[in-house]
Amino acid sequence: MADGSEGNAAPRQRVVIVGGSLGGLLAGNLLHRAGCDVTVHERIGTELAERGVGIATHPELHAAFERLGITIDEAFGTRLEERITLGTDGQILARRRLPQIQSTWGHLYRSLRGIFPAERYVAGATFTRAEAQGDRVLAHFADGSRIEADLLIGADGVRSTVRAQLWPDAVPEYAGYVAWRGIVEEERLSAAHRDILFEHFIVCLPPGEHVVGYPVAGADGDGSPGRRRFNIVWYRLTTAERLREMQTDESGHYHEAGIAPDLIVPSFVDEIRQAAENLLPPVLAEPMIRSRGLFFQTIVDLETPQMVEGSVALLGDAAFAARPHTGMGVVKATGDAVLLADLIGAYPGELAYALARYDAERTRYGRSLVRFGRRLGTHVETPGRSAGEIELGDYLRRPETVIQAISIPPPCSPLDVFREDF
Ligand SMILES: Cc1cc2nc3c(=O)[nH]c(=O)nc-3n(C[C@H](O)[C@H](O)[C@H](O)COP(=O)(O)OP(=O)(O)OC[C@H]3O[C@@H](n4cnc5c(N)ncnc54)[C@H](O)[C@@H]3O)c2cc1C
Repeated sequence: MADGSEGNAAPRQRVVIVGGSLGGLLAGNLLHRAGCDVTVHERIGTELAERGVGIATHPELHAAFERLGITIDEAFGTRLEERITLGTDGQILARRRLPQIQSTWGHLYRSLRGIFPAERYVAGATFTRAEAQGDRVLAHFADGSRIEADLLIGADGVRSTVRAQLWPDAVPEYAGYVAWRGIVEEERLSAAHRDILFEHFIVCLPPGEHVVGYPVAGADGDGSPGRRRFNIVWYRLTTAERLREMQTDESGHYHEAGIAPDLIVPSFVDEIRQAAENLLPPVLAEPMIRSRGLFFQTIVDLETPQMVEGSVALLGDAAFAARPHTGMGVVKATGDAVLLADLIGAYPGELAYALARYDAERTRYGRSLVRFGRRLGTHVETPGRSAGEIELGDYLRRPETVIQAISIPPPCSPLDVFREDF
């Protein structure tokens, strides 16, 4: 049995975490420090690649990282003071002072992976199913190995196998648009554009759609001028039929769970570059056109009726996925991991009670965040919005409103319209 155990006779909780991305590593590190006997199992066999994406961060995330001994310094992210809304003609339509640190998926991942014991991270381990064993659980893996544990945590993302087994009706619901994402090195951008791009969190609202961009550190973590990159996301209306074509590779194979960037048919990438040229101000068209490896992610809403069943708990996107306009996915995974570790630490020998409290609190939070994300998403003009959604969407599309709405936790939002959301 590949159980990763170190043979310690102390009555430690044995915890198996499925998914070795940010949520799994946060939980792994926190529970390891809380004294649990933890292993993390990731289906990808190699080191997870730099996914080339920026991550907006918030104080809750900083606090959890600091608790793990990770310093929130210049290497952690790029600190920006001001947000601006650009018109499609490139004019600044609104500005607002809103300090925020923008990090990258790669930096967060490397920081968490670097402090987690290497021998407890099992790469190339695909979880297949869980089996209840009294008040314990047996985790089965594709290679035939099994591990018995006190707790199994499904941190396996929006297409979670753990969730599919326990809550098969909880499936991601396509929101009607995708996010095209690009990242480009500072040196590849015109000098004329660099000042505005590297000083601001920028929003632009081409017809019916939404673009957001901000600077992040270079791939080596260097955030000094000349070494940075610009991260850009374009939320584009895309019908379900069109999405199916975009998720089909050149050999005709349809990738239902999302197509890998290198399999996207090049004509779709050419098309987005052409659209950037036609619809975006030159200062934002350039990063889109010059980004190597443009790719897209589908935008979905996902809700789960509960996060705990017996000795199995969900965490992060596996349980609830809110639209990225909230900028809260990693923060939510952080909040899940912190509360779970705190409760398990606070109630030794009372795992069922700790899990019940976790379930109640984080299910309520996850549901609220998904609702908030849907409300924020009304500013992308999908067909079929109700009259109320159109009214809210029009309000959110105002140049001075949009920069106060996105990537800000609702309790910190300057907008009254979100006060009721949490
Ligand atoms: C366009 C866009 C922009 C975003 N911007 C932000 C932002 O600015 N700020 C923010 O906080 N969040 C943002 N997010 C959300 C954020 O990326 C996610 O919420 C976060 O990555 C979820 O982490 P996770 O660990 O829960 O899941 P994932 O990162 O999806 O990890 C799941 C892991 O589980 C593994 N796995 C899956 N199945 C199995 C299996 N059967 N066995 C073993 N392993 C398995 C996968 O390989 C993967 O490594 C954004 C999302 C999108 C789409």
